[in-house]
Amino acid sequence: MQREALLALLKKTFGYSSFRPLQEEIITDIFAGRDVFALLPTGGGKSLCFQLPALAQSGLTLVVSPLIALMKDQVDNLQASGVAATFLNSTLSAEESKARFRGLYRGEYRLLYIAPERLMLPGFPERLQELNVRLVAIDEAHCISEWGHDFRPEYRQLAELRPHIPDVPFLALTATATQRVREDITRLLALRTPRCYVASFNRPNLTYKVLPKDKPTEQIVRWIQDHPEDSGIVYCQSRKATESVAEKLRARGISALPYHAGLEARDREKNQERFLKDKTRVICATVAFGMGVHKPNVRFVLHFDLPKSIEGYYQETGRAGRDGLPGECVLLYSAADAIKQRAFIDEKPDPEEQRIAREQLQQMIHYAESARCRRATLLEYFGETQSTIPCEGCDNCLEPREVFDGTLAAQKFLSCIFRLRQASRFGVGLNHVIEVLTGAATEKIKRWGHDKISTYGVGREHSRSEWQAIGRELIRMGLCTQTSERLSVLELSTEGMAWLKARHPLTLTRPMKSTSKQPRVKIEGDIVCDEALFTQLRAVRREIADEKNVPPYIIFADVTLRHMAARQPVNETEFAEIPGVGERKLRDFSAPFLSAIDQWRSGRAR
Ligand code: ADP
Ligand code: ZN
Repeated sequence: MQREALLALLKKTFGYSSFRPLQEEIITDIFAGRDVFALLPTGGGKSLCFQLPALAQSGLTLVVSPLIALMKDQVDNLQASGVAATFLNSTLSAEESKARFRGLYRGEYRLLYIAPERLMLPGFPERLQELNVRLVAIDEAHCISEWGHDFRPEYRQLAELRPHIPDVPFLALTATATQRVREDITRLLALRTPRCYVASFNRPNLTYKVLPKDKPTEQIVRWIQDHPEDSGIVYCQSRKATESVAEKLRARGISALPYHAGLEARDREKNQERFLKDKTRVICATVAFGMGVHKPNVRFVLHFDLPKSIEGYYQETGRAGRDGLPGECVLLYSAADAIKQRAFIDEKPDPEEQRIAREQLQQMIHYAESARCRRATLLEYFGETQSTIPCEGCDNCLEPREVFDGTLAAQKFLSCIFRLRQASRFGVGLNHVIEVLTGAATEKIKRWGHDKISTYGVGREHSRSEWQAIGRELIRMGLCTQTSERLSVLELSTEGMAWLKARHPLTLTRPMKSTSKQPRVKIEGDIVCDEALFTQLRAVRREIADEKNVPPYIIFADVTLRHMAARQPVNETEFAEIPGVGERKLRDFSAPFLSAIDQWRSGRAR
């Protein structure tokens, strides 16, 4: 298909006038009949990569999806844009399934969303030829790998489809894939010399912040009260915490519900649905909440507790700002949390598992404590370099932390490690080093004679917690290392040894202060509009959504409403120009919005 025709179809159906990065390349390859592997971050616009080809060519596009709840959502979404789509899964009655099958044979649908176990039922793959299948899109393709976090054994059988539809291209899509998972996807789906597309993992519309954890529930309440219009997720480690935080929020007049694997399935679904439908503003959840939650207008993700790994943190924060509007990601951090997590890890039975968990936790602690650009730290984890530092979207770049001359402190700290090693020939941990520096009289210090070494008590000018921070920063700088065994031991590194000899001036960072208020800035993705009108339009949308019993975003995304509130169209022609308004939505929904805008204008004119 010609580029112009494709763009016209994009505008007509979905109301967009340009492609997101890589969408066009992926679509072009599909038209050429190639297999494609696409790794796009959350919110990157993966769905469009198979939806547009499905519309542009005749026949049926199969969309394999692991999540039943999501299928309905996506199909509702497509239907609202006038696309003939349907799904097949275990929630349907036998009669309804049959009716849909008949429709499929008559060629009434362009897209069929289907669960892998349904697709692979005996007899079904044989019939795909008759259904005129032209493309197989495999969503959440990482589910095929045991190395991913949502392994679904049913995905393994998908390769068996190939002989039945030998000429049909496969498109594998995911937002999570390490190298290992990527190889699994290609191999286990039997992709044929696939073209691989990997988008940047940078999410420019997200801001990252770390706040020192101090009366956390109160911090969360205040933060959410400061964002009265926004909807978001509070991630907690324990089920109990999700319930107690939700309750405290409710006590302060904020609509909030818990979500965790211990709730009855019915309650869990009900709470999730209320959140998706904007009837509950905040969901307090364990990590069980997330995959398959495609709520586009999540404006914040707060972490009450320290996540176990950067990978997990990135995925969880990634649920903010799917629609491209700004989102804020805040982590509450205290060193005590890190210690608690280490203790959990010590309980794990398998030493290898322990080692990996400690390493991952260590990276997470570095993220939380470092004065470096948070975005750069996250991206580095995925092997990317952040080209623009300061990034204008993290606390460390927006408000660089105070620094001080740490030459003397580093000298004391590092030589203390050195002396202790010399005196005892065995390594000691961070706390012991600090006890020696601050001249504590512990039983171990006496027993090992560490009160006799020259650095004993030379660091009384700093408190213990200050020394903790200094020590951890020196570890981050690589001047000393911390082993990841159960009783972790501090060692001078080669660099640390060299530094002790040369003693160049060294700058250290002051710990974060919990009082510091971060400046509000305009962040990428923001659409400046009249907020009062935006609120009005949300109410209009709410009414329509309730009537149709769908989440509000199925009617129009927040982005579209903000564009409306900014441009204030006065007739259908102008309304059609708004991004996210395709032909069908123009016809179905423009009237109530146009009249709300008109009323609002005349109200202001008076
Ligand atoms: P993903 O599955 O990659 O997380 P989605 O397919 O849900 O992302 O798309 C995220 C959002 O971006 C949706 O609201 C979608 O309508 C929107 N979107 C997708 N492609 C475009 C585009 N070319 N222009 C504008 N918005 C787009
Ligand atoms: Zn930054």
